[in-house]
Amino acid sequence: MRDLLGGKGAGLAEMTRLGLPVPPGFTITTKACNAFSRSGRFPPGLRKQVEEGLAAIEARSGKRFGDPSNPLLVSVRSGAKFSMPGMMDTVMDIGLNDQTVAALASRSSDERSAWDSYRRLVALFGRIVKEIDASEFEAILDRAKAQTAGGKDTDLTAAMLKDVVGEFKSLYRREVGSEFPQSPKEQLLEAIAAVFRSWNGRRAVDYRNFHRIPHTLGTAANVQAMVFGNMGPDSGTGVAFTRNPATGARELYGEYLPNAQGEDVVAGIRTPMKIAQLREVHREIYEELRRYAELLERHYRDVQDMEFTVENGKLWMLQTRTGKRTAQAAVTIAVDMAREGLITKEEAILRVEPAQVVQLLLPRFDDAAKAGARTEGRYLAKGLNASPGAATGYVVFDPDEAERMGREEKKPVILTRVETSPDDVHGMLYARGILTARGGATSHAAVVARGLGLPCVAGCEALRIDYDAGEFRVGSHVVRRGEFISIDGTTGEVFQGRIATIDPDFEKERDLQALLGWADGARRLGVWANADYPRDAERARKFGAQGIGLCRTEHMFFETDRLPIVRAMILAAPGYRRLNAQVRGLRAERDAARLDRRADLEDQLRGLEARLSDLSQRYLGSLEKLESLQRGDFVGILRAMAGLPVIIRLIDPPLHEFLPSYESVVVEVTKLSTARADPTILERAAQSEEDRAFLEEVRRAGGGEIARGVETLLVEKEALLEAVASMREANPMLGLRGCRLGILFPEITEMQVRAIFEAACRLRKEGVDVHPEIMIPLVGHVNELAIERAALEAEAKQVMEREGVTVNYKFGTMIEIPRAALTADEIARYAEFFSFGTNDLTQTTFGYSRDDAEGKFLLDYLESRVLLANPFQTIDREGVGQLMRICVERGRKTRPEIEIGICGEHGGDPESIAFCHEIGLNYVSCSPFRVPVARLAAAHADLRSRVVHVEDR
Ligand code: ADP
Ligand code: MG
Ligand code: MG
Repeated sequence: MRDLLGGKGAGLAEMTRLGLPVPPGFTITTKACNAFSRSGRFPPGLRKQVEEGLAAIEARSGKRFGDPSNPLLVSVRSGAKFSMPGMMDTVMDIGLNDQTVAALASRSSDERSAWDSYRRLVALFGRIVKEIDASEFEAILDRAKAQTAGGKDTDLTAAMLKDVVGEFKSLYRREVGSEFPQSPKEQLLEAIAAVFRSWNGRRAVDYRNFHRIPHTLGTAANVQAMVFGNMGPDSGTGVAFTRNPATGARELYGEYLPNAQGEDVVAGIRTPMKIAQLREVHREIYEELRRYAELLERHYRDVQDMEFTVENGKLWMLQTRTGKRTAQAAVTIAVDMAREGLITKEEAILRVEPAQVVQLLLPRFDDAAKAGARTEGRYLAKGLNASPGAATGYVVFDPDEAERMGREEKKPVILTRVETSPDDVHGMLYARGILTARGGATSHAAVVARGLGLPCVAGCEALRIDYDAGEFRVGSHVVRRGEFISIDGTTGEVFQGRIATIDPDFEKERDLQALLGWADGARRLGVWANADYPRDAERARKFGAQGIGLCRTEHMFFETDRLPIVRAMILAAPGYRRLNAQVRGLRAERDAARLDRRADLEDQLRGLEARLSDLSQRYLGSLEKLESLQRGDFVGILRAMAGLPVIIRLIDPPLHEFLPSYESVVVEVTKLSTARADPTILERAAQSEEDRAFLEEVRRAGGGEIARGVETLLVEKEALLEAVASMREANPMLGLRGCRLGILFPEITEMQVRAIFEAACRLRKEGVDVHPEIMIPLVGHVNELAIERAALEAEAKQVMEREGVTVNYKFGTMIEIPRAALTADEIARYAEFFSFGTNDLTQTTFGYSRDDAEGKFLLDYLESRVLLANPFQTIDREGVGQLMRICVERGRKTRPEIEIGICGEHGGDPESIAFCHEIGLNYVSCSPFRVPVARLAAAHADLRSRVVHVEDR
């Protein structure tokens, strides 16, 4: 029904059927609209249908359309399948002309309201059908209002309104080149055509793109007898929700404006009263409305957003639709309705979108701080809520400056532009939020901000940005470059100055907790979390995580007290490896050599062995220190996750990531070389913080003496430069990293496994239930895994034997290279679990390096729709997804009970979670903050697939 009649038409029909007072009318279907869109003409039969519909209305109302003595007036209202509030058009008071206005005036003995309706018709018709700028009508009306004592539209007398109509009509004549049509039929047909056209209006198209509503649906047109809320103090118009759409509270919520028609109540022309006040003023009307609200809510089993009009004390219902609500309200309403027995728990789960849970858990402005900002007059304007979340930062107009401040100075900036383009992306990447003066929900700024997960307020038209002056104005407020502003991407509000943001407290979200509890009962997919530190693991557990899907060990290397040890280890590693091989070779040569060569070889060997022992002290010695530190880390994590599995990934990034950058060492060596001739230059040139720190380092190296420091340090830095240079890679993403490291430098990964098992054994002795799972990254060939596993498992067994404890453990691998996915049957022979590293898998499947792609072309790709979604946010089903599907199938063929999950960022993305459910993964693992979202999304995936099954049968 909604397909053909649209939401509004279906709602009107349903309300009529339920016996509610609805002005009579009929609906022209979406089919007619689509035919009209295609040919630009009404389909055959439409005119006749309109005649018949009108006749039916006439019969029920006792009035006749165009009757000069008792005229029927109608509205033509747009209404698509999905509600698109305010996006399309409605023309009211059709049927008025110079004759019927007089008849209406005398019949209703209310001359004023008749002329008030007439001026509305001319303005609406002029704007919607003839596209005359609305502000021109408003200007005339404002001038008239300014001549009254009260200054409001209701202060205009009949005579004044008559003049307004006269002026409106001349404006119309000037703009259109002909008279305002006096034929009611012509008015009606033209209005229907305009409503059909509004389906393809700019605003409507943008809205559909944003909400992914198909453009092929078309709108229906509802022709309906007018009722008049502008008949004096006993009349009025209002909107009401059956529950509070902001908080979810169970109360009739809305606004009512006496003596008004149509959009007046929401247009802000006068301040409306709260629905609660209506109860004081018109008790019966309020009670009647409340009854209807209850009836409709029970009937539709969801919150309704209703429009109504009171004409001379009689209530008329004009619209009902599902009420839009905030994330907070969505959760509360779903939980309440399930508890009231109105809907099932499954329905309640499906009533809340995972994206709404994301919103609930984003940092937001502290309510009190926001209210405070308002009373201090710091509220500036409202734009489009293009990407949710709250941000506070320095206003910056120039993307280069945003990049510099954001990246180098680590300052929070809000990049503020008239609109953005691909040339601005480098600045957007380092901003905390985006604010634009122009552009809609699918503008570049909005698309990119959502892609980056940044708060964005777009199309904030009240902003007058002046790049040259480095400021923007809103009314009398001036905000200069470098001053603070705060933007709320969830509501679209913009404030001057700072507003404190708060991280929501999950523990206090009772309704959300209840809902997620139900969701847990409805999902098959496990939800784990990625956590590198015990505190993250604890948080993840509070959020409901059932395991740790990724614990990255390299973060532990980066801590400041460890980095020097890690560096010493890395600088010694290649030499150790080389020398070790040489020594082994030489020993073999010596053993096989004839006596006369032996002595010579022994000599050589002694020299090498001395160097090796020095290197091994630096290499193995550092590893030993790291081992005891890592053991402590693992004790912490395993303890925090007692009883649950913890997947620990062995070292993954290229080793040079732990060293200073090649460029920075070159600079230092150059400085030292020049300073050799003239050591004072270092002091004279020390300008930046960095320069001074370097000077300090030189001084220290020289025991307080710069010249000596230069000499000592130069030797050290040259050695460092050589080491860094030898480890440089043209493409580190595809270089010496992942399991390749463990194969070349087995001592490193063996140390890690020892630390893990020592920690596990110690906890087992304390009676803690531990489940470590060792994950070997970046395997592409089964042999890599076979070799690594053999060496590491031997290490693990040794530890357990030494400690006299057995630990439940698994060995497995990350799947992040297409070759691994394709050969999963072989790889599964050596793996008890797989975990999709979808970030790398996406990089290697697309052949993109993520940083380069996002910095250079990916966002352009999204904007020009080369790609429809960012594959780093939502799994690319056709490519990456296909590999995953193949991998699951082949892996399970070899090892049916193999545990398969995902640990990439995608594990927290609802669409990707649905895909993971579909291909039969055991769990998804995501950042702790995403765990609640994933719990809900996993339940959605399950419930939806069940519904599909039922429908299939
Ligand atoms: P939208 O879809 O943008 O809400 P509507 O078709 O609901 O547009 O109409 C806009 C306004 O005009 C609403 O306030 C509605 O109540 C009012 N309106 C529409 N038709 C009538 C009518 N026949 N009598 C009185 N008011 C009407
Ligand atoms: Mg409406
Ligand atoms: Mg990886």
